[in-house]
Amino acid sequence: MTLHVPVVAAPHLKRLRQFIADLADVIDEGEDEAAVLAAGEVLLKRLVAVDDWLPEAYAQPHPDHYQQYLLHCDSRERFSVVSFVWGPGQATPIHNHTVWGLVGILRGAERVESFRTDTNGSLTLTDDSVLRRGEVEAVGPDIGDIHRVSNGADGVSVSIHVYGANIGAVRRSIFRPDGTTKTFISGYANPTLPNLWNTSEP
Ligand code: FE
Repeated sequence: MTLHVPVVAAPHLKRLRQFIADLADVIDEGEDEAAVLAAGEVLLKRLVAVDDWLPEAYAQPHPDHYQQYLLHCDSRERFSVVSFVWGPGQATPIHNHTVWGLVGILRGAERVESFRTDTNGSLTLTDDSVLRRGEVEAVGPDIGDIHRVSNGADGVSVSIHVYGANIGAVRRSIFRPDGTTKTFISGYANPTLPNLWNTSEP
């Protein structure tokens, strides 16, 4: 008699591993921010085009607020890869990044409101758009670094973000409606990371 052991399909983490290797190659080239964003956009579009690699533990919403799960941080903290998970109606405050960033939509949709600061310090809305599954958008000090992101779908949305630093450790700013700012360091929701390096798995 043959014993049938149930097999749970392993997520295809090799896609994430390949993305990280390809992005490290791009950064090794030492190009400027615009070149990194252009090349990174191509890579991130490829990563979010297929939704079979993100482990469920990093796609879990929180009932009260969005979640920010670190998936990988470069050993020299030159970049980090994060999954953002949005329950219905959840949103960030208006914030900046201080480093380049790319946002790619894996599931659902995301509304992105972009702002610029005027000389008197007030904020002006410059764009309000919805990113849909498979789409990628860039942010950064050279191209517009202040935005508010919210869930643009009825159910749970998941987006994959890439930043030019260990973003959870970066000191940055929240912009309040009264015109004042507050410094924050976001951290991450997860105490452990996906194991990308078990290459004996298919
Ligand atoms: Fe952001």
